[in-house]
Order: sequence, then C-alpha cells, then structure tokens
Amino acid sequence: ISSADLVEPHRICVCVRKRPLNKQEINRKEIDVVTIPGKGALLVHEPKHKVDLTKYLENQMFHFDYSFDETATNELVYKFTAKPLVQSIFDGCMATCFAYGQTGSGKTHTMGGDFTGRQQNSAKGIYALAAQDVFAYLSNRKYSNLDLSAYVSFFEIYNGKVYDLLNKKAKLRVLEDVRQQVQVVGLEEVYVTTAEEVIRMIQTGSACRTSGQTSANANSSRSHAILQIVLRRNDRASTLHGKFSLVDLAGNERGTDVSSNDRSTLVETAEINRSLLALKECIRSLGKNSDHIPFRMSTLTKVLRDSFIGEKSRTCMISMVSPGMASCEYTMNTLRYADRVKEL
Ligand code: ADP
Ligand code: MG
Repeated sequence: ISSADLVEPHRICVCVRKRPLNKQEINRKEIDVVTIPGKGALLVHEPKHKVDLTKYLENQMFHFDYSFDETATNELVYKFTAKPLVQSIFDGCMATCFAYGQTGSGKTHTMGGDFTGRQQNSAKGIYALAAQDVFAYLSNRKYSNLDLSAYVSFFEIYNGKVYDLLNKKAKLRVLEDVRQQVQVVGLEEVYVTTAEEVIRMIQTGSACRTSGQTSANANSSRSHAILQIVLRRNDRASTLHGKFSLVDLAGNERGTDVSSNDRSTLVETAEINRSLLALKECIRSLGKNSDHIPFRMSTLTKVLRDSFIGEKSRTCMISMVSPGMASCEYTMNTLRYADRVKEL
C-alpha cells in the first residue's frame, strides 16, 4: 500500500488491520489464518470439520476500503484512516475514528500507541499523530485566518455511565435538551496549545482508566475510551467549528461469559453488545442519509450524536484482527460486523 492508493475520503471508511502473531501464539505453534492478498482485501482460512471430523480450511474473502497487514506501522495506518479526518474537522466536519475488535487484537496499540502508561518513546498511536497534525494545521497559513483554538476531552463509558478521565474519573450525567442536543454535563474540556500537552493528558487519563479496578476482569477492555479534539472559533461564544472523536471501543468478544454466574459480568457484556449494535445501526443510517438515527439506543451513540447527523459527518472504523487460529471465530465476528458497517 502506498500514497498513490489513498483515495478521496467518503463519509464512511471501513478498514481492517491484522496484528503480528505474538510470543504466546508462536510458542503454542498457532497457525496464522489471516492473509492480506491485496489492497483492501483480506482472506481468512477458516478451520472447518468434514462429516468424518477431518479438519480443512475454508477460504473466506472480505473487501474493505483498506487492509493493513502485520508489517504496517501506526504511522501508515494513521495516514490512510485518521489523517484525512483531521483535515476534515478544519473544514467544519464532525469526524469519528473507531478502533473495533476483540480484546488483544491491537485497538489500544493503534489508538494510544505503545507508550500510554507503559514505556516512553515507542510507537506513537493515532491519538498522538492526530494531535500533532491538529497543531500543524492550526499554524498553517491556509487555516490561520479561521482563528481557531483546540480543546481536548478524554472520557470513558463503562456500563452505560460516563467517567471523566481528565478529572479523577468523576461520574458525569448525559443530558439531551429539547433541540436534541446531547451534553455531557461538567466534562472537562482543556485548552491545549501543543501536541506534547495532549500526549501528557492521554498518559494521565489512560493511567486513571486502569487504576482503582478490583477484579482483573474489570479492566479497560470492558469500557469504551473516547478522546475528543474540539476546534472552536476565538469569538465570544467559542463557536464549535469541528470535532474529532477517537474511540478505543470495548472488546467485542461476546457470549464468552454467558456461563458465568457473575451477574455484573453478564450486565457488562449485555451493555457492550447493546452499544456495539447501536453503533452499527447509527453508522449504517448515516450512510443511507436516513433522517432517523437510533442514537438513543446507547450512551456511546448518544454522546457521539453530533457525529452521526448532517452532511458534515465523517466516520472511519478500523477493525482489528488477531491472526491466530484460536481467535478465528472472533476474527470472523469482527469481519462480519465491519462488512455490515460499510456504505451500501
Ligand atoms: P486491545 O486494546 O485490542 O485489547 P492491545 O492494543 O492492548 O489490544 O494489544 C495487545 C498486545 O498486542 C499488546 O501487547 C500490543 O503491544 C500488541 N500489539 C497489538 N497490535 C500490534 C501490532 N500491530 N504490532 C505489534 N504489536 C502489537
Ligand atoms: Mg485495549
């Protein structure tokens, strides 16, 4: 994949990214069942059983706007997915970029990079790369006459509740007014002037995200994390000009805990499934220019309502897949979901 492959973005862009096999998978001698045969294509070699129980692999082909193999860097993925959206918010768009997939497939690696909360200076993620470009555009002659400032919010949605990651996980209420405008009451929106400030806020927020959790199960994979970069005009009313929401979604593995007696896990799973279903429906109705967008179905779609309405909405979904045979069922689920989200 090269720059020449970059096409003019449409309202919905759906991509897939395959991560490399990890150490454990290699140690278990797991087979890599995912191949990227060409631009936008992805092939799964799905294990099946014959009637006599002998195993064989059945090839399933999928097509997306872009497909990234295990050699793709975060920079490359960024260039084809979020970068065009950064541009779009300067043109007044409401943009969203989602990282979707099972736990361990690379959502946080792609969005936060491998430095959030861990070692410094390794691979930058889409959050940091987008922040860098926002400030590059702000100082660009082409946009400086717009007289804009950038603000950042960072929050998480867990079990349908909103928690502010920039304010000690304060629990916030979501309100909808008579004009159907949705507001997260009291959400911190911090004025920022450099990418480094944004990166530090992401580090603090990410650390806050995982702290104070009791069971090992209740980790960040059960919540959606949303970083918003907001452009406002430097007028008296701080008029909204454009907004970019970058979403690290909860793991989409479902049903794995249905046998569990743990009620809170069941509630968690049901809530995640509901919000991911709502998200799919909202993106699909965006593509059809429908006037009924079912954003009230979940907290996730409620807080992202702005991004689903009007001509100025842009969405990119990056679906992450693990390559191992043991993950194949989840991988197929992820790909089917991504396939349904594609613009019709
Ligand atoms: P998720 O957020 O989807 O649960 P993570 O982003 O935490 O998954 O990834 C799980 C592990 O795999 C992490 O250790 C991460 O560093 C690694 N990983 C994920 N994607 C890649 C990639 N493209 N290249 C190298 N390592 C990756
Ligand atoms: Mg994660």
